[in-house]
Amino acid sequence: MSANAHTTIIEILPAVADFLQRKHHLLIDGRWVPAQSGESFATLNPANGETLCSVAAGGIADVDAAVTAAQRALPGWAALTPAQRERLLHRFADLMELHKEELAQLETLDNGKPFRIAFNVEVNVAIGQMRYYAGWPTKLTGEIYAVSSPGFHVYTQREPVGVCAAITPWNYSLVMAVQKIGPALAAGNTLVLKPAEQTPLTALRLGELALEAGIPPGVLNVVTGFGHTAGAALSQHPGVAKVAFTGSTEVGKAIQRAAADNLKRVSLELGGKSPLILFDDVENLDAAAEAALWAIFSNSGQNCVAGSRLFVQAGIYDAVLARLATRAQQLIVGPGLDAATELGPLISAEQLARVQRYIEAGKRSGATLVTGGERLGGRLASGYFLAPTIFAQVADNAAIACEEIFGPVLSVFRFEDEEEVITRANALPFGLAAGVWTQHLGRAHRMAARLKAGVVWINTYDWFDPAVPFGGMGESGVGRELGRQVMEAYTELKAVWVKVE
Ligand code: NDP
Repeated sequence: MSANAHTTIIEILPAVADFLQRKHHLLIDGRWVPAQSGESFATLNPANGETLCSVAAGGIADVDAAVTAAQRALPGWAALTPAQRERLLHRFADLMELHKEELAQLETLDNGKPFRIAFNVEVNVAIGQMRYYAGWPTKLTGEIYAVSSPGFHVYTQREPVGVCAAITPWNYSLVMAVQKIGPALAAGNTLVLKPAEQTPLTALRLGELALEAGIPPGVLNVVTGFGHTAGAALSQHPGVAKVAFTGSTEVGKAIQRAAADNLKRVSLELGGKSPLILFDDVENLDAAAEAALWAIFSNSGQNCVAGSRLFVQAGIYDAVLARLATRAQQLIVGPGLDAATELGPLISAEQLARVQRYIEAGKRSGATLVTGGERLGGRLASGYFLAPTIFAQVADNAAIACEEIFGPVLSVFRFEDEEEVITRANALPFGLAAGVWTQHLGRAHRMAARLKAGVVWINTYDWFDPAVPFGGMGESGVGRELGRQVMEAYTELKAVWVKVE
């Protein structure tokens, strides 16, 4: 971990300073209203632990009001022509583009991630997704069926599911919100969004931009608050037809149980412990090691697809481990508003403590701590900063090898051959993502076919595109987001039989 002696601090935009001065309410039925309980909570800057601003703590009554507003808005929104819905969603995307820097600063302040990542990656991805979904209303169609019963014309049509709930995490708050708002609204549904309590700011700004874009009142509602109150109320609410959730596997299971009462449609994008496998035929060892470094450390490891289990074939194991250790020590950890920062803080004191517990458990398990492991002090002491951490000689059944840590902690394993690594890579209940580095074409395809994961990256890692479906197998989730598949998940399919003879 490199000390960053020369700092260039990015200046806060006046619009962001103004946003932070305000006390933020809930967006219900097109109006900003305080929580009915009058309660609010502080959202903190993880780079220094200071309060950024105060946000309403929505509860059961507020969720109920938001769902009622979404129910009222539903017929009007669904009745717009596809072209009208497209125009409004494109206007929404235009406004996101116009306020790109502001959204990125809010994300950096609230989440901690480096500003250039927030600006160049997160906000760009979110805008790209909004544009992609904005184009869908005019492309949603049913099919005509060649039935064998004579005298019938049979077709299907897609209809909105109804009122949807989106419950989102803190690691990519803007993208996660758009990934649910976009397809829900494009398909003619209305939505209530409950962002993570740690990162409500970009969701609130999105609410403002949606109103400015002319999206009618009640179509998008934003209820900030806590998971056990607002989140639980949404997943239980009888007026909600679908819940889309991204977060921990544990909460995902609770949401699925809560949603069972009125048989809500549920899509769950959950945790992972993704394997990244480097074979000794890699063309460029340094490039592969660099990819492995960023597979785990980007977003400070707080990434559902983090390549947190690195399997390296015996012939290159020592060289890769040495390279990784050197590079991990060079990474610049610091506040997201420092232009040089490569890794920001963890999201909260709670998350820092959780990751530190895993590091201690790793040491106790007999694994070798190659680098990192400590909380960073000095000018970073008031934030939640942790040195990029690498363990080697990790037992396959150690907690650090099996559980999602969601922090900058990598376990490196040595393997001998393809059969062995497939068995070990597939041994966990998760199945979100996997990566393989090899120059052998046949091996690349064999591995892609046999790895238990919703996405497999070959000679690359962590790429997304709005057109490509994403989701997990096993305990990593249910359903797919992105692509045509998510549009199907936000619609009901109706078959129509017409007797023509
Ligand atoms: P959670 O799964 O608790 O939070 C995700 C979202 O769910 C938040 O909006 C949260 O609200 C909400 N929520 C929490 N409890 C409930 C509930 N009972 N009913 C409905 N909604 C609820 O993640 P955490 O923030 O607690 O993080 C813990 C761990 O989860 C991480 O260390 C990581 O391992 C994993 N995680 C995985 C993510 C992924 O993308 N795969 C993303 C985030 C976390 P609130 O914020 O108010 O609690």
